[in-house]
Amino acid sequence: MKYKRILLKLSGEALMGERQYGIDPTRLAEYADEIKKVQERGVEIAIVIGGGNIFRGVAGASNGMDRVQGDYMGMLATVINGMALQGALEDKGMKTRLQTALKMESIAEPYIKRRADRHLEKGRIVIFGAGTGNPYFTTDTAAVLRGVEINADVILKGTRVDGVYTADPEKDPSATKFNYISFEDVLKKGLNVMDTTAFTLSQENKLPIVIFDMNKEGNLLKICEGQNVGTEVNI
Ligand code: UDP
Repeated sequence: MKYKRILLKLSGEALMGERQYGIDPTRLAEYADEIKKVQERGVEIAIVIGGGNIFRGVAGASNGMDRVQGDYMGMLATVINGMALQGALEDKGMKTRLQTALKMESIAEPYIKRRADRHLEKGRIVIFGAGTGNPYFTTDTAAVLRGVEINADVILKGTRVDGVYTADPEKDPSATKFNYISFEDVLKKGLNVMDTTAFTLSQENKLPIVIFDMNKEGNLLKICEGQNVGTEVNI
């Protein structure tokens, strides 16, 4: 396998499936199947999940809510998603641990890097909930931060698009996909891979990012095997 330890980032919106809000159990089960294929090959898997299917702090703030209050609500939303994913993974026989950046000891362990390492070494899937634990950050930033902390080999960002394009493929039919692009070129060309904080953290720590379509069966496994799927952002 190309990667020994991965940090998989899933957006909250991806969990909605065809719905407008919340969690689609079918989608959740599909993701669990995809993750299982990789786990069975011995890859160590950590997951950061977003909360956009339930609540986003920015959306709250645009409706007059205090931003910090909204962001904490967003972080709680990621814990709900994390618990849902944990349930789906365990349903398929995988061993998991949920660790949260905000303490909620009845349902999850607090985030402890050394403990996360140990779980991963033992083949447990570790889900990191509550983002970074700080308002004004995103779960993309949480993904890169945790990825750097646990020495992941790569950030795999599963989205609904299959990579990074020269332009928005929905607006510009002539847009083409990059198989590989350097961090520097992403910045030079003004392309959107992750928010700036997340992107810079990844670049500074030379942690590659692969953007890929998580909804296409087999993609996650192919990437871990070293096949060219999606777009790899690297030094
Ligand atoms: N959030 C936060 N700090 C973090 C991570 C997330 O405040 O470290 C909040 C923020 O309000 C964000 C929400 O949680 O809008 C959900 O996360 P995100 O928008 O990144 O989820 P995604 O877009 O991946 O579904």
